[in-house]
Amino acid sequence: MARLKIHRIPARKDNYLWLAHEPDTDTVAIVDPADAEPVIAKCEELGLSLTHILNTHHHGDHTGGNLALKEYFDCVIIGPAADRDRIPGIDIPVGEDDTVALGTETGRVFDVPGHTRGHIAYWFASSDALFCGDTLFAMGCGRLFEGTPAQMWDSLSKFADLPDETRVYCAHEYTEANARFALTVDPDNAALKKRAAAVSRLRAAGKATVPSTMEDERATNPFLRAEEPGLQEALGLVGADAVAVFAETRLRKDNFKA
Ligand code: ZN
Ligand code: FE
Repeated sequence: MARLKIHRIPARKDNYLWLAHEPDTDTVAIVDPADAEPVIAKCEELGLSLTHILNTHHHGDHTGGNLALKEYFDCVIIGPAADRDRIPGIDIPVGEDDTVALGTETGRVFDVPGHTRGHIAYWFASSDALFCGDTLFAMGCGRLFEGTPAQMWDSLSKFADLPDETRVYCAHEYTEANARFALTVDPDNAALKKRAAAVSRLRAAGKATVPSTMEDERATNPFLRAEEPGLQEALGLVGADAVAVFAETRLRKDNFKA
């Protein structure tokens, strides 16, 4: 049993593509290839051949490299069953509670609609890795393009019990702007203030802030904290139900000018 070795590939303006390598069998997956070129370049650098593409959702900045990579490597494309018609080249559609094997490592699939109606996430428990696409971000969450606040809250709640040490491999470097917003709705959260400062230092030095951990997200991400009294108070929603608090937080973020 070898844990996945995970490499970050920056692409486009702020996308991260995650290359997951299971070294016992040289199984190699790319999560959400925006484009083929940076993936091919990274595989050449590492001397690896791509065996799988894992898509979380249909957006072009997550599937743009699918067909070119399939042609180049003859790899297998796994993606959301609920959106199979919008995933270029899909071979294996998957949904809630399905499993995905990468060599010796097994991932579990969650259906997490909200950002898009067919969004899924992959959790590789023994590698402490969650590939969550545009559902959960560092101190943020995806915009609700095709879903309701209730759906997205339910989706995010599926991550709530994942172990603290789970690494959150989200698909974008949005952390600094997310932190600025988070401070406006959770102003007395000491862990958040500390993390926001650390993130500013990292970004000033040109460094990535992703992956984070579930422990950090639970402590600082306002979109996971709808049940926290401090956040409810800052929003003027003391005692409101979690979906209402989450919906108000998402609405304010949509209107927030960083
Ligand atoms: Zn997206
Ligand atoms: Fe995206």
